[in-house]
Amino acid sequence: MKSVLLTSRPGQHGLWPEVSELDVPSPGPGDLVVRMSACGLCGTDLEKMRGEYTASLPVVGHEAVGTVSAVGRGVKGFAEGDRVFPHHHVPDYTCYLCRAGNETMCDHYRGSNLDPGGFSEYFRVPAWNVSRGGVLKLPRGMPFEVASLIEPLGCCVRSVRKCRPASRDTVLVAGAGPVGTMHALLLSRAGADVIISDVSDERLRAAERLKAGKVVGARSDVAGEVKAVTGGRGADLAIVASGSRGAILQGLRSVRKGGRVCLFGVPPSGSVLDYDISELYNAEREIITSYGATEEDTKRALKVLAARGREFGALVTHRFPLSRFGEAVEAASGGKAMKVVVTP
Ligand SMILES: [Zn+2]
Ligand SMILES: [Zn+2]
Repeated sequence: MKSVLLTSRPGQHGLWPEVSELDVPSPGPGDLVVRMSACGLCGTDLEKMRGEYTASLPVVGHEAVGTVSAVGRGVKGFAEGDRVFPHHHVPDYTCYLCRAGNETMCDHYRGSNLDPGGFSEYFRVPAWNVSRGGVLKLPRGMPFEVASLIEPLGCCVRSVRKCRPASRDTVLVAGAGPVGTMHALLLSRAGADVIISDVSDERLRAAERLKAGKVVGARSDVAGEVKAVTGGRGADLAIVASGSRGAILQGLRSVRKGGRVCLFGVPPSGSVLDYDISELYNAEREIITSYGATEEDTKRALKVLAARGREFGALVTHRFPLSRFGEAVEAASGGKAMKVVVTP
């Protein structure tokens, strides 16, 4: 079977994706093997290739969906032929951090993963994930391409939950990529006034077409624009759906006194912010961070997609088979594509 693995090149920084031939995995006790039908390419997959990603081990492909092709001994509730979304990271739900509501900080969360990764014709879902509710069955009629948005949308659902938005809030979403636009779509439906910024005109036009909110070029005076539409006050909330320092600063400068800034994008390791902390204190601004999703969030995302599949499905602009993975990476890196989905 074809599978994308990351390899290093001597003397060069970063990791290169290579389409390799591997044996189809067989399920151990409690495992499932899934035949992949679609797997979204995430910004964090690109960061892993650039050697910038700081949050977990460099396995690529975690937005995968497909059909169960083999069932391990002792698995209950799943059969060959089931159409599923398997969550790649699943916490234990029992430790101190899990019980405190910080499930994605659980020591086990990043340790569980799809094997050898989601960009693979077949992959194994470990018993750990299967037995802890990490595998969801897809509703009849939900296209695999739409279902591949469950994982990224689940992360957005969690971040919105942590940000406690009130309806009528003015929200700046910094970054009009797929996850920024997902936030914008969730928040505008919840009654917020959304302003969305990006450096890419293509992405802003796409966000506009999707009616995600009012768009503004990230190179203009974003904080000024936000203040202009809020009577000089600033936004109640800023979601930073980008790991760039510029976007984080834009978020901090655009929120009102007592406002909240959510860091959603993964900053490259070593990112240092040139920001006067006294401003943070004196304006009582709150910084929230959100990493990953729990099963509660992926289930909620599945429900949102069951109801609004066409709307969110429009985020997918490019599709490539595994054999053309390099082109998928190019399209996703260029800033012109919204969501890129890889198929077998
Ligand atoms: Zn992702
Ligand atoms: Zn835990």
